[in-house]
Formats: sequence, structure tokens, C-alpha cells
Amino acid sequence: MAVRPIVLYRNDEAILRRTSQALADGASEALPLIADLRDTLLHHGNGVGLAAPQIGVHKRAIVVCLGSGNSRRPGPPVGIINPIILEAGRELPDFDGCLSIPGLYAETVRPHFMRLQGIDERGQRLEWTLEGFDAVVVHHEVDHLNGILFIDRVPSPDQMVTEADLQGDRPP
Ligand code: ZN
Repeated sequence: MAVRPIVLYRNDEAILRRTSQALADGASEALPLIADLRDTLLHHGNGVGLAAPQIGVHKRAIVVCLGSGNSRRPGPPVGIINPIILEAGRELPDFDGCLSIPGLYAETVRPHFMRLQGIDERGQRLEWTLEGFDAVVVHHEVDHLNGILFIDRVPSPDQMVTEADLQGDRPP
């Protein structure tokens, strides 16, 4: 259990582009991996999700803070192992960013409804029904397991917004 360095796009794009492999059912490696993902995400207070390849591990595990989209405080990071999207819909634009691409944001279109299957931290196979920003966050993290980054979902580089734009130096 440790805070691990986050793989950055500008330094190590190839690591982020690799597809991650499923963890074996009941794999003993899953829990320490989830613990490291949680510690690393909590250390970076501005993130609501993290996927294993972002700490350089190509296994299908994510942590997500659910309930973050309604101006409520998001919940604690929840680990999901081998997530599979069973159904996704209600695609809408939303603001997107990534701890691996700090300082850059853009609008992306993602599902706001999702049925997800996976294994929780107790090794139970579960299904989750996710609405609104929760579906967006999980979709972003599952993308990471397939080597997809949010910038791939932005039609043109002009639509990127930097930290400076957000400070009001330039209208986005
Ligand atoms: Zn990300």
C-alpha cells in the first residue's frame, strides 16, 4: 500500500497506450493493487478516478469516487476489478480531464447511463447501475484499460482548455 507515481502522457505515452489484461478471479494481486490505486488517488485530491495503467500496471482494475457529480462530496474511492460495460447510453457532453494529462481539459461526449459488471474488493461479482457523472467517470477509467485517453475523444486540439484559460487569461 503506497502512493505510486502517476504515469504522465508527456513522458510515457506508450505505457498509457497499452491494453491491460484481466486479473484472474480471486487473484491475490488485486487487493494490493486497489490499495495502491486508492492511496495514489487520495494523494491527488483533485481526481475522482484512477486506472491501473496510470501507475504502470497493465491489469484491469480501477478506483472511482462515485456521487461526485451533484455538488455533493464524492464518496471514497471504490475498487472495481475486471469491469465490463454491459450497457451504456444517454450520451452527453461533459468536462473531462485526467491526472495523467495535468493542466489540460476538454469537453467529451460520454454515456450518462451505464450497467457495469465487475468484481468488488471482497471478490464478489457484482453489477452496478450508474447514472450521470458516475457513468462518465467509470467510462473514462475503463477507456484507460483499453489504452484510450480523453484527448482521443476531443474532435480538434482547438477545443482543449488549459489551466491558464480557466484562470481567465483567454476565453476557452
Ligand atoms: Zn484519466
